[in-house]
Amino acid sequence: MAQVLIKKSQLAALISFLAARRKVVGPVSLGHGQFKFAEIGTFDDLALDYIPTILPPKKYFMPQHETLLKYDLSRGQEMQAVVEVEELVLFGVHTCDLAGIQCLNVVFSDRPKDINYMLRKSHITLIGLECKDYCDSYANCAMLRNHLPKGGYDLFFSELSDYYSVDINTREGELIVEESGLFTAVTVAEQEELAALRQAKKQTFKSEVPIRYQDIPRLFDETFESDVWTKIGEKCLSCGNCTNVCPTCYCFDVMDEPELDLTKGRRVRVWDSCQHENFAKIAGGESFRETRADRKRHRFNRKFRYPMVRYKRVFCTGCGRCSRSCMAKIDLKETISALMEERG
Ligand code: SF4
Ligand code: SF4
Repeated sequence: MAQVLIKKSQLAALISFLAARRKVVGPVSLGHGQFKFAEIGTFDDLALDYIPTILPPKKYFMPQHETLLKYDLSRGQEMQAVVEVEELVLFGVHTCDLAGIQCLNVVFSDRPKDINYMLRKSHITLIGLECKDYCDSYANCAMLRNHLPKGGYDLFFSELSDYYSVDINTREGELIVEESGLFTAVTVAEQEELAALRQAKKQTFKSEVPIRYQDIPRLFDETFESDVWTKIGEKCLSCGNCTNVCPTCYCFDVMDEPELDLTKGRRVRVWDSCQHENFAKIAGGESFRETRADRKRHRFNRKFRYPMVRYKRVFCTGCGRCSRSCMAKIDLKETISALMEERG
């Protein structure tokens, strides 16, 4: 659509403008170099110089615990569908996490559409923020081409010297710009500054593992029987951290929770993990993925190979969260490098 500018000194006023209308969520510091997305009251609550938050913003699109149905027979209330929706502005989302939300959008809008997800998404305004440098050494966003903006936002902020250059991508973004009155027209000087920023990023961000994007699925196809899976399976604790923190993991379980008198109850959806032993267990106690090596291989193929067949995209954004949070120090970049080395 269009490009506009906002002075850095006006960012606090923008947050106040947004917060007066909706709940605003952004990156906040937890100390010890850890960050999370949480509700902010004012601009001062934000930590815009942040590394990927512990949980990605997917928690606002598919909550960890969500009621799908409820009933209360004591009031004559039969089973009723529930959609938990909240008007939200998500501020300061990095390009890797925008890519993660785009992956979830593709999955949940596939047939049959997930109405709960789609409705929740339609009430969330997304404001992105460009990274000028790597968050830390765990990130592998350049390998997946997610270090640059590729849509999926309403507004997108890129920091220049005195301003943020702001890309307007939707009517929702346009309305924020028009109604806040805080933005000005872009000039040639800022356009050139943005072009220089993008040029500099070409030097900073280089594919972290020497493999081309289009060759990644074939690597996983050709290394299906690799010893690498056995080796990382021996280290893995099956804790499920890597899937919980992953912006593109969406597996869930559905459970009925009746109250003790059986007159009231609800059906809930909760996050699940393919790394848990019970995940692929079926009646009779058989399991499709009995060993930790099987489950690790599945997770990697589920990121880098299977979605390419179904959705024509890799489901890793390069955020580095799985490597950052793994207690067994199983590192995604090292795993890909080991597979490449073994294949030769
Ligand atoms: S976080 Fe690490 S130890 Fe836990 S399931 Fe994932 S790979 Fe295994
Ligand atoms: S697989 Fe790891 S690096 Fe890739 S998106 Fe998931 S958490 Fe991020």
